[in-house]
Amino acid sequence: MIDEPILGARQMNRLRVIEALYGRPRSSRAEVASHAQLSRATVSTLVEELVRAGLVEEHPGAATSSTSAEGGVGRPPVLLSLASHAAFAVGLDFGHQHIRVALCDLSGEPIVDDYSMADVDHAPAASLDLAQELVRQALRRAGVMPDQLLGVGMGLAVPIVKATGELAADGILPGWQGVRPAEEMEARLGVPVALDNDANVGALGEKAFGAARGVDDLIYVRLSAGIGAGLILEGRPYPGAVGVAGEIGHVFSDPHGPICRCGNRGCLESVASPVAVAALLERSIGEPVSVQRLLELVADGHRGARRAVAEAGEAVGRAVSMAVNVLNPELVVVGGDLAQAGEALLAPITAAIERHSVAPAAEAVRVSAGTLGARAEVLGAAALILAKSPRALVARLGA
Ligand SMILES: [Zn+2]
Repeated sequence: MIDEPILGARQMNRLRVIEALYGRPRSSRAEVASHAQLSRATVSTLVEELVRAGLVEEHPGAATSSTSAEGGVGRPPVLLSLASHAAFAVGLDFGHQHIRVALCDLSGEPIVDDYSMADVDHAPAASLDLAQELVRQALRRAGVMPDQLLGVGMGLAVPIVKATGELAADGILPGWQGVRPAEEMEARLGVPVALDNDANVGALGEKAFGAARGVDDLIYVRLSAGIGAGLILEGRPYPGAVGVAGEIGHVFSDPHGPICRCGNRGCLESVASPVAVAALLERSIGEPVSVQRLLELVADGHRGARRAVAEAGEAVGRAVSMAVNVLNPELVVVGGDLAQAGEALLAPITAAIERHSVAPAAEAVRVSAGTLGARAEVLGAAALILAKSPRALVARLGA
């Protein structure tokens, strides 16, 4: 857990400047003053102090021919950013069969991005040990000292009860029932650890660094071994009452569908996950079809594969249309393995949303593939920590 100490007035002003620069890198002093709602004089004093402390960097502004409000004709304002190497955060993405680690600087740029196969589903303790080793290796490779690390964010493919940090793993990730992964990782690493489920961190990744930059109302739909959605509403992640909002994979989709791992019948996940689609195709072409093979067949224009992906897209679009009616988002970002099918998937999703949502909500929403691909979750996990970096940096400065 990350403590949030009460700040004095001077620290509050520092926080406002740092937050303004975290949200809008390369801002002028005037822009910082406007976003932080502080006077120019106060901002100048604080910036000087933050530059001396090595937390803020000055960049000469790009020359423009326009008249600058601050520097007079032809003298562009100096731009400010947080010093990207002032602090670091690690993201960990636990898939079903892999663990991915990214060590990011303050701007979210991954300095180390590594990957290891692991039997995550069945071996939680061994997976947590492996993750600890991956974090240590990443810090060593980048030459980052442990005291420069703000914390570690983790994404796991399971709903998480926000009050306790426990996993709602029953039937979803059976080996992890009763495990408290954030506490376990904190004990191993000795730094603050934040935990969220994979779709929520994917949403955060695409919002911070990808397709949803600058978008405040969005649904991130992750189509991987499981199907889940992460919601960001009015600029903030929306966890719901206990933290399991966005379980779109278990929305009812097909009365004739198979029994789902959650115990219900015909859930979206059991008819439209990449694994379900590949299995459907396997029966029709009479040979084993992996998800990778499915994507190759789609890219090659295989009619059956494209048909199977289109039907999955339509089912996903129908389920998403309900969320579009209820939440009126600006953007639906499609991520996970199946997103690699491109337009073969996105076009039927878009069409189903148009068909099944009320007109004003359908007109307001765009559907787009994620731009971070398989890195959305690990970068979003790092963003769980980076989003709290302004407060951590202020705390580092002292009173
Ligand atoms: Zn289900």
